[in-house]
Amino acid sequence: MSQVRVRFAPSPTGFFHIGSARTALFNWLYARHTGGVFVLRIEDTDKERSTEQFLNVIYDSLTWLGLTWDEGPKVGGGFGPYRQSERMDIYRDHLARLQAAGRTYEKDGAVYFKISGEPQIIDDAIRGRVERTEEKDFVIVRSDGNPVFHFVNVVDDITMQITHVIRGEDHLSNTSKHTELLQAFGAPRPVYAHIPLILKQNGPGKMSKRDQGALVEEYQRRGYLPEALVNFLCLLGWNPGDNREKLPLAEIIRLFDLPGVNQSNARFDEKKLAHMNMAYLLEQPADRFVALTHDYCLRQKSAAALAAEPAYFREVMLLSQPKIKAIEELPAYTAYFFAEDFPIDPKVRDKVMAKGDPKARLRELAAALQAADFSTDAALEETIKATAAKSGLGFGDYQAVARLAVSGTNVGPGITGMFRALGRDRVLRRIERFLAA
Ligand code: GLU
Repeated sequence: MSQVRVRFAPSPTGFFHIGSARTALFNWLYARHTGGVFVLRIEDTDKERSTEQFLNVIYDSLTWLGLTWDEGPKVGGGFGPYRQSERMDIYRDHLARLQAAGRTYEKDGAVYFKISGEPQIIDDAIRGRVERTEEKDFVIVRSDGNPVFHFVNVVDDITMQITHVIRGEDHLSNTSKHTELLQAFGAPRPVYAHIPLILKQNGPGKMSKRDQGALVEEYQRRGYLPEALVNFLCLLGWNPGDNREKLPLAEIIRLFDLPGVNQSNARFDEKKLAHMNMAYLLEQPADRFVALTHDYCLRQKSAAALAAEPAYFREVMLLSQPKIKAIEELPAYTAYFFAEDFPIDPKVRDKVMAKGDPKARLRELAAALQAADFSTDAALEETIKATAAKSGLGFGDYQAVARLAVSGTNVGPGITGMFRALGRDRVLRRIERFLAA
């Protein structure tokens, strides 16, 4: 068989959403699986609704997700131009061919395509056999001279030699118009593969751009890992055939195929995405994790964290890595590492201070920490344990109040890691201040 050529054909008329990203991903995966070509084509004939801003969001989101295109805007290719607004002479030429074949007529300034009216049988690679008969001639060029979606879409698939049309199921009902046009041009048919809809998280109906969590750029802004989103997206309508959900991309590429795409609709699940993201965050190598957190702090303009010594910033972020669920938790989670005027959580204080004599414990610990070795967690743990043993108490009797004094809360990285990162001076200063208050 000749080389597979697939295309992702977005219209830049709105923000780039989860559904578009999934369509792009399935095309990209199929191209990578087959050693084929992934074409990006911009369907921007609707001049009123298409904007450069939305176009840039498409480029940025695809690039962020790693769905690089082999042919298309910016990279070029042998079948360009790749923006429909730049292909008007190609459409004019193809219109002339239909006119010459007697397949068009004009009515009220619009150009109509004369259908054959024959049943159109589509062997969809996902849906199976679908039969539909067009009953009415349809407009291919509007009275304002603008060619219509069905027409330009088919002309481009022909001229770009697209072999497989992988797109959302909402286009299944258009396909008989498209095969009618292909037939009129005497062009070979691509393989059609209509992928199931993505249902909104709650309630019936298709997910739309307006639904919560629908925009790809939002995940980018929130510090999500693109590979987590890609992994999540590929499971919206596909699975590897076993129970695995988290898979390396190379494995997804190896296993992805059209018959493996489900017929039933997939439901968007933001919690599952968050969970996938957390799993990817946990396993990030230190350098990449620190770079991600640094980018996020830059975007959030977290001045105090950005002003810290790079080695200290790194240590704090790496201490937090196993504890957080998302990058966006980090500013609040680590605030007390970067500022002395952190708040004391009154609920935690009331709870911790209600039992025993926590101030006495803190005084004992402060005395022991004066001479303690702050270089390793093990040494600090020894110090706390030895202090506790002297009074016949447990580690916990010291840990909770020390944490409260040093961080103002009861959540955070392990106490010894926290002490080690903050260092003796800061820890003792904070304990003293707490005792004095
Ligand atoms: N521009 C169409 C869309 O965004 C593309 C349809 C197709 O892939 O054929 O839905």
